[in-house]
Amino acid sequence: MIQEKELTSGLSTKEAEKRIRNFGLNELKHQKKISAIKILLSQFNDFIVWVLIAATIISGIIGDKADAVTILIIVVINAILGFVQEFRTEKSLEALKELAAPTCKVLRDSSIKIINSIYLTIGDVVILEAGDRIPADGFFIESSGIVVDESLLTGESVGVNKECGKYKISSKKAEEGKDGSNKLGKSKKENGLNNEGFMGTTVVKGRGLFKVDCIGMDTEMGKIADLIQNIEEEKSPLNKKLDSLGKILVVICIIICAIVTIMGIIRGNDITEMFLLGVSLAVAAIPEGLAAIVTVSLALGVSRMLKKNALIRKLPAVETLGCTSVICSDKTGTLTQNKMTVKEVYLNGRIHELEKEKLNDYTKFMKALVYCNDCNYDFTKNKMCEVMHGDPTETALVNVFFSDSKELERFINRANRVYDIPFDSTRKMMSVIVKEEGKETCYVKGAPERLIDKCDLILESGKLKPFTYQKKKQVMEFITAMSSRALRCIAAAYKEEHLTRGERLEQNLIFLGVAGSIDPPRQEAADAVLKCKLAGIKPVMITGDHQNTALAIAKALNICNTSDQVMTGEEIEEISDLELEGTIKKIRVFARVSPNHKLRIVRAFKRKGNIVAMTGDGVNDAPAIKESDIGVAMGISGTDVTKEASSMILMDDNFSTIVAAVEEGRIIYDNIRKFIRYLLSCNLGEVLTMFLATIFYLPNPLSPIQILLVNLATDGLPAIALGVDPPEQDIMRQPPREKKESIFARGLVEKILVRGSLIGLCTLLSFMVGRFYRMNLEECRTLALCTLVMSQLIHVFECRSERHSIFQIKLLTNPYLVGAVLISVLLMCSVLYVPFLQNIFHTVALTLNQWLIVIFFSGIIAFINSVYLLIKSK
Ligand code: ATP
Repeated sequence: MIQEKELTSGLSTKEAEKRIRNFGLNELKHQKKISAIKILLSQFNDFIVWVLIAATIISGIIGDKADAVTILIIVVINAILGFVQEFRTEKSLEALKELAAPTCKVLRDSSIKIINSIYLTIGDVVILEAGDRIPADGFFIESSGIVVDESLLTGESVGVNKECGKYKISSKKAEEGKDGSNKLGKSKKENGLNNEGFMGTTVVKGRGLFKVDCIGMDTEMGKIADLIQNIEEEKSPLNKKLDSLGKILVVICIIICAIVTIMGIIRGNDITEMFLLGVSLAVAAIPEGLAAIVTVSLALGVSRMLKKNALIRKLPAVETLGCTSVICSDKTGTLTQNKMTVKEVYLNGRIHELEKEKLNDYTKFMKALVYCNDCNYDFTKNKMCEVMHGDPTETALVNVFFSDSKELERFINRANRVYDIPFDSTRKMMSVIVKEEGKETCYVKGAPERLIDKCDLILESGKLKPFTYQKKKQVMEFITAMSSRALRCIAAAYKEEHLTRGERLEQNLIFLGVAGSIDPPRQEAADAVLKCKLAGIKPVMITGDHQNTALAIAKALNICNTSDQVMTGEEIEEISDLELEGTIKKIRVFARVSPNHKLRIVRAFKRKGNIVAMTGDGVNDAPAIKESDIGVAMGISGTDVTKEASSMILMDDNFSTIVAAVEEGRIIYDNIRKFIRYLLSCNLGEVLTMFLATIFYLPNPLSPIQILLVNLATDGLPAIALGVDPPEQDIMRQPPREKKESIFARGLVEKILVRGSLIGLCTLLSFMVGRFYRMNLEECRTLALCTLVMSQLIHVFECRSERHSIFQIKLLTNPYLVGAVLISVLLMCSVLYVPFLQNIFHTVALTLNQWLIVIFFSGIIAFINSVYLLIKSK
């Protein structure tokens, strides 16, 4: 209970702003800033491109200057396209990092505010709780069992107890620091107390107030910041695989290009012309953009996910999301609304339904629930909802008794908390000792079955009675009934003697009663559960609540139907890991579990071959989150430690956001497959056209410039547009894919090989038809050029679906793709019909008959394929 009167009032906003101006922001300076020039230059950092530029310059000197200039222009345009993509990716990734920046609870103008930690300044008072990362250097001025993990700085993993020092930093001293050195409050180091806290270390237990005295680069962390910032950004597994695939393809391409070049030279073609052709072909055919486009689509997906309230912290997680087969979710706040209202109370031997009656004779019960409570109050406000801040479980308990804030203020001020053991989800209870009118009393509240065991007496209608086994059983029956009505039950107890400090305090208690709160399920969670089931994903509820409460909510959400699908923490304790693996398949609800059970649950699911997403909020959840394939932290209720262990943060703490993210993960993966299919079959088509012509002793069907033009018209924009393609309708009706599955699995390689070969073959055929009709070489080449470009632009629409034909998909649902294709067609037409460009690209204006040849050869395969798919799907 951190009350206003116990605190200094913190800085005023005005003073804080002044200090921020003087001392700067509380941030570690980033060394690496992305530079546009660097990214632009990196576009030319490719050996093959340099060979092309060199070859072009040489050929320009000895031969056709216009050709050389055109090639150079195309190379530059290509580089600019690559630059725009990469720059956008970097920018959006940088923006994401800022969003993930930590916040802290600070006292300003006498009230508690949540601010971005960079706006923290010297003299600020920060409220720290278990799971919080300490946002700056300073010292504790109030500590209730604070233990800090300082392993980040010291390497020592044992938590350090922090006491509190009673030092005040006057604002006058802060003023002295104006010269830039912001070291204040040195006195703390001289008094032998361990009350210091350092930026970046984490509070593992307890609660306290912390006064900031060093910020930003002046902190201990600032001194080692350089070391930390040099950590490499993680590459996704797919990126790595594509990188190595890219290398293999480079070798294959170079070999083929070399054969084409050498055979051309042997057959007496011009050496420089053939060399230029070989290199142009290599530039066009090598899918250098493959790994880059994967990063772009992952990054674009990440910003789409953010719009749906899922913040991705690790890029590779996007890929894994699509494989998720089990989602383990917390109940409170994620599947439910976390809007608690006490509905029933068990007191004096019977249940009171609060809607129908008012409580009386409740003084001790009321004191237990209100004094043993971690709500924060701001009595400068009037409305109850503005006065109280804190966990809904706790505010609900105060709301039962008070509707008037003045009355509440008087009640709160009658007692002073002198000692507490904070709530923790393993013990499932909390205790306080308060001093009222000079007399100390201990109040305890917690999970009923835990508390009942610790009570010897029961207070009923003002009389103390022995709390016999029989009586306990009777009370438990009431509680079981309450739980079955989906009520979250909290029992209260007290004692006035033997108030020893430590956990022994929670013994020989006097039982008071139980409050049962309703927490309605989230409406959208039920829809999301259904979506999961259709998508072959198993939703599993994990909760600290009673099994009956959990079952009631799970039934309402359709997560499970019967009680044999529920397992409790106690049952988990009793069985071995192997047995757990054996039964886990049928379990849908884990109730009364502690955070350490979560770790065993994740492991068991994983060993059964599942890809597990696991949510968590408390500091103890971090190990399970780390262990899971997709660690999901709560954005609102989550602690810094869980957030840092996670790969994804739910900004709205909502279960349906996880499902939306999984869907987005599937979409992104599908889109990556789409453009890999497109790029590789197109490149194969280009290489084969030239290769087959060489083998069949035909003249080159395309000139070097034309090859580069094809590359520019088809590889760039359409491929990027495929990366943002809307999903296929049935994407959440498919089972999750295997994590180990290759990107080329499920027939993608065959599709690429067959379709790529056919594009090459058709292009060559259109060239040969031109020769058959005795057209001149320029006309034949124009035919081949148009057939190659058109086949690819038709194929890009085929790539939008793996299961459906182009007749079945709605062609216009991706406006970017339509736009990109139109631009490419326009580019091709202008090369054909603008006389100036005709000269540069050595093309002719096609006649209607010649267009018919182009349309036939570019469309025939797509047509046959679509009819085949249509018949197959019927
Ligand atoms: P999850 O969020 O994982 O679904 P939960 O929030 O319901 O679980 P806990 O917060 O661990 O789980 O709560 C477990 C039990 O502890 C509750 O059923 C309740 O009886 C008791 N409890 C919860 N909050 C408090 C509290 N602030 N003080 C005392 N007891 C509490």
